Amino acid sequence: MSISNELDKTLLDDLKPFHGVPERAKLRLVRVVIVGIIGISYLLDAFLLFLFTLSDTVQIHVPLIYGLAGLGHVLIFASLHWSGFSDRFENPHMTLWQMVYAICTVLMGLVIAPQISIFFLSHLIVIFTFGALRIRLFELLSVWLVTAIAISLVTFFNQHSVLTLFYEKPIEHLLITVSFSLFLLRAIVIGYYGYRMLLRMFDKSRVFEDEAARDVLTGIYNRRNLNHILVEQISLHGRKAIPCSLAMIDVDHFKLINDSFGHGCGDEVLKGLVKFLLSEIRDSDKLIRYGGEEFIIVMAATNLVEAENHVERIRRRVEQFKYKELPSHHSLTISAGIAQLRVHDQPDDLISRADYALYTAKRKGRNRVVVEPDIPK
Ligand code: GH3
Ligand code: MG
Ligand code: MG
Repeated sequence: MSISNELDKTLLDDLKPFHGVPERAKLRLVRVVIVGIIGISYLLDAFLLFLFTLSDTVQIHVPLIYGLAGLGHVLIFASLHWSGFSDRFENPHMTLWQMVYAICTVLMGLVIAPQISIFFLSHLIVIFTFGALRIRLFELLSVWLVTAIAISLVTFFNQHSVLTLFYEKPIEHLLITVSFSLFLLRAIVIGYYGYRMLLRMFDKSRVFEDEAARDVLTGIYNRRNLNHILVEQISLHGRKAIPCSLAMIDVDHFKLINDSFGHGCGDEVLKGLVKFLLSEIRDSDKLIRYGGEEFIIVMAATNLVEAENHVERIRRRVEQFKYKELPSHHSLTISAGIAQLRVHDQPDDLISRADYALYTAKRKGRNRVVVEPDIPK
């Protein structure tokens, strides 16, 4: 899906009235609505031009032609969007083509009402701010270059072009100031819309990041976050000599649970176990699902002896814990291997020592806690 559609989707996601409407239709509707807003912008300008006719600055054909040009913009692009024709473009808003159309309208204005050239030129702020949200920098700069040349030529060869803000009549001065303020206001609204969109994207990316770091079944962090947690502990250990221990835990004979009671039951048991482990660990401990039925507890400010006592207590309680999905006589046991962070350790060094200790616990008969053999420095 194109970035343009992705951006539109982030806007639509939270709008309840759109729920249930097919995605393609929703995206087309957004584009048509934006064209409608552009139409309102043309209407406002036609009205401003009409005020200029009241001050005898321009003749009545100017607002009429301008209004018709606006109508043309709306009809052409709304039908291209609604018919699905614009779906084939990488940017289905056809922003580049809408810009080209609007710039042609500006050039037309410069020709038919050169005495208020500044009125039309100011539109370029709005047009380019609009384009900056959707089209590539290269396209934007190319359109800007062609526009700059076209404008220079039109205003240079038209002796009636007035590019200054100084007018003879006070009403003209007032009108041009009001018009310019309104152009700026629209530029601000578009800029603000872009800014909000970026904020939304930022918020969403944080949610995605958190979701990606969490295990779908149990909701606790998965191993994606483990490295980050350990790097933090390594830094604390290096700077302040704060100890840290890691326990690698594996459920004993878990395959039997699946084989005897089904995979769904196994899932529920794992969820129950995680809930129980979360209630047993301390606030400073971090529980991570490392793999299928393997978990890691990172114990900050805990040396090997403290860690062994802590995990041994957890092991005993897990053995006594009853799962509502399993028959009452059925208990689950865990084996654990513990290692303590050493100087010059990388995350993988600590993990593999704990893993080796776990392997020893399994070999010695399971349902036990084994600490790494060497005393860490
Ligand atoms: P051991 O005591 O040697 O660890 O035996 P085990 O049966 O626990 O070990 P093994 O590695 O042979 O099997 C692990 C089982 O855990 C196999 C796999 O199907 C199951 N498992 C892993 N992840 C999940 C999960 O998310 N849900 C369920 N239901 N089962 C899982
Ligand atoms: Mg196991
Ligand atoms: Mg295992």
